[in-house]
Amino acid sequence: MPKIRKADKNADLRQLPSVDDLLRTATGKDLVDSAGQKHATELARAAIGDLRDKVLAERVTGDLASQAESALMELAAAESRTGLRRVINATGVIVHTNLGRSPLSVAARKAIADAAGTTNLEYSLETGKRGRRGSRVEQLLIELTGAEDAIVVNNCAAAAFFVLTVFATGGEVVISRGELVEIGGDFRVPDVLEQSGATLKDVGTTNRTKLADYEKACRKDTKMLLRVHPSNYRIVGFTSTPSVKELASLAKKRKLIFFEDIGSGALIDLDKYGLTDEPVASRSLRDGADIVTFSGDKLLGGPQAGIIAGRRKFIEKLRKHPLQRALRVDKLALSALEATLDAYQHGNAVDEIPVLRQIAMPASRIKTRATRLVKRIGKVSGLTITIEPGNSVVGGGSAPNVHPETALITLTHKTKTAHDIEQELRRSGPPVITRIEGGRVLIDLRTVEPKDEAVIAKAISKK
Ligand SMILES: *Cc1c(COP(=O)(O)O)cnc(C)c1O
Repeated sequence: MPKIRKADKNADLRQLPSVDDLLRTATGKDLVDSAGQKHATELARAAIGDLRDKVLAERVTGDLASQAESALMELAAAESRTGLRRVINATGVIVHTNLGRSPLSVAARKAIADAAGTTNLEYSLETGKRGRRGSRVEQLLIELTGAEDAIVVNNCAAAAFFVLTVFATGGEVVISRGELVEIGGDFRVPDVLEQSGATLKDVGTTNRTKLADYEKACRKDTKMLLRVHPSNYRIVGFTSTPSVKELASLAKKRKLIFFEDIGSGALIDLDKYGLTDEPVASRSLRDGADIVTFSGDKLLGGPQAGIIAGRRKFIEKLRKHPLQRALRVDKLALSALEATLDAYQHGNAVDEIPVLRQIAMPASRIKTRATRLVKRIGKVSGLTITIEPGNSVVGGGSAPNVHPETALITLTHKTKTAHDIEQELRRSGPPVITRIEGGRVLIDLRTVEPKDEAVIAKAISKK
């Protein structure tokens, strides 16, 4: 490549548009309208700065004014992608933590919209006096789990931390080595224990822990037996761990608190959908756990929340503790949780709650939808579309060895790579999030609302 002389470079630099010039282009004017003069000026300055750097690095030829305008458009678009917006989850991962975990039911969305204004959060419509935040949700939880009492905090990590801090600080907590797990990157059971001021006493081995191991570890300053659902981690093969009942009776004998963090926290039995390994809150409590904690936005299918259910004397103590104020749940999440729990109470959970509906959806139904969608897309030049059997993922750290059968739409292109197609779909409006496997883009309609199929068809047709 011939080296560009310095004089040429200076001539190029003189061709760079000024900030004012750039803001007078169509892109500039739109940006001033949407983002305001001050911010648009900052972006224009950045776009010109980037282009100047490229000229100095001898990498630019052609019309600099139009290149500056494109650079400004891309900067504005990149910035808008960093904000929160609606996306379509076509990955087939049902509880997708990066995509906001559980999508909410129609009723829960409406409840949030209503609660966004003024609401009787801590006001009794019966008496016209101050009421207690979350009293109806607590009542629903008592009914649905069989617990004596329940409270709700910000998430399950906060719930577990709260329970350990209030009931185990300064004492020992006995836990199986097989349960010293890390869940979702930053929830590490040993770290949470340490932060709560309790001392960890791990017993047994990674794959096998016996009741006698717990029994031997109990001493004068032991305060609690802790059982943690390993969630996204499974040891298979030669394994054993005492049952909830056995641990409950040991705790009772030794006058210890038995706390089980069940994590994903199914409220109903999901055995018939293949999720045979997931603890159910009511079962754990019935089998004798004094306190259980679980998330609101995993298998329960509601908003981010941490639920603590168990014996009245313990829950009462938490309710009066100063940390409760710091960890409490906000009115939007509370309203969505109430609407979600209402669906369980009315026996409509599997019909109304998206996570459960998606878990229950048979592969044959997904195949019918996929066939309809592919027909709708029609022929797209260079693109090959097939429908093949495959598997969905439960996600959210739940049921790691359950892979519901599904029908996948696969996309390959004559000239574009799978990454190109994936990026184009991700940058369309609204973004369609897919996965890549074996050099192909895969679309799993299990996690797509039927009304969004048209959006996907349009995004693909534009390819
Ligand atoms: C997911 C999980 C948590 C953390 O729950 P968040 O609601 O994400 O805070 C804690 N414990 C267990 C066992 C979990 O599975």
